Amino acid sequence: MKYYRPGSVEEALELLQGGIPLAGGTVLTPRRYSLEGVVDIRDLGLSGITLEGGWIAIGAGAVIQDLFSMQDRLPSSVIRACRLEANLNLRNMMTFGGMLSSSDARSPLLTMLVALDAHIDIEPGERHLPVRDFLEFRSREQEAFLITGLGFLNPQGASYEQVSRSPGDFPLVCAAGSMHPEGEGRTYRVALGGFGDEPVRMEWSPVGAAAADLLGEATAWAETAYAQAGDPFASAEYRAEIAGVLARRVLQEVLA
Ligand SMILES: Cc1cc2nc3c(=O)[nH]c(=O)nc-3n(C[C@H](O)[C@H](O)[C@H](O)COP(=O)(O)OP(=O)(O)OC[C@H]3O[C@@H](n4cnc5c(N)ncnc54)[C@H](O)[C@@H]3O)c2cc1C
Repeated sequence: MKYYRPGSVEEALELLQGGIPLAGGTVLTPRRYSLEGVVDIRDLGLSGITLEGGWIAIGAGAVIQDLFSMQDRLPSSVIRACRLEANLNLRNMMTFGGMLSSSDARSPLLTMLVALDAHIDIEPGERHLPVRDFLEFRSREQEAFLITGLGFLNPQGASYEQVSRSPGDFPLVCAAGSMHPEGEGRTYRVALGGFGDEPVRMEWSPVGAAAADLLGEATAWAETAYAQAGDPFASAEYRAEIAGVLARRVLQEVLA
């Protein structure tokens, strides 16, 4: 296996013709004997996290523990999603780039980032994609790419709930909610995770709708979204019912 350690993003992009990005290595290390080459991203200066004017900008090389450490500046539900993502040792190794590139819908943090409508920066091409477009891009892109960072607007309200076999396990079903002011009104988002390749999401910008209507809509949407979500860990009937309950609960919290 060839090991490259470029000093700039431009150099890294050229080297990606001969290898794939290496970040924390938690996924790649067990696969090391099958890799032709890796491009270590640690010298690219991508590891900072800044909070300016309510916008959280996170470098792709920042580790999950870096965000977890910002407990005094972020909603507790975002911190909880970081904690549930992995144990302390892994949180100190796994990066946001690695997580965005390799996580599926069982990731509490990816589910939270979908609810927060995070945007992902990708090279080449200086693309700045909403996270759901990024997940679609990730599933179809054939050419090598580098995630350089991501960002999201600190929400006015956020919540996270999950059901799992044990408290620290990956969720069988999870839901994340967020509320952002938008012009005169507010936008509410609920993301569902726990099953499949990526979280799913619904959003509402209600004008004059009663809270009870929104809660009913969210419940019905979540039950339908997970109506076929059966696998050896849980039946579709179970997931659909829990999805309805959790979607309602997280929306209720951000509506309050
Ligand atoms: C024990 C264990 C259990 C796990 N279980 C789950 C699970 O059930 N569900 C789940 O979703 N995830 C799971 N994960 C994966 C988890 O998402 C990863 O551990 C972590 O997010 C990878 O981050 P890393 O920085 O270590 O990436 P690396 O191992 O360095 O890389 C992982 C992948 O991301 C690519 N990559 C890394 N950085 C970039 C970048 N900047 N731009 C483009 N591509 C990049 C790499 O090329 C590679 O393909 C598990 C991991 C471990 C160790």
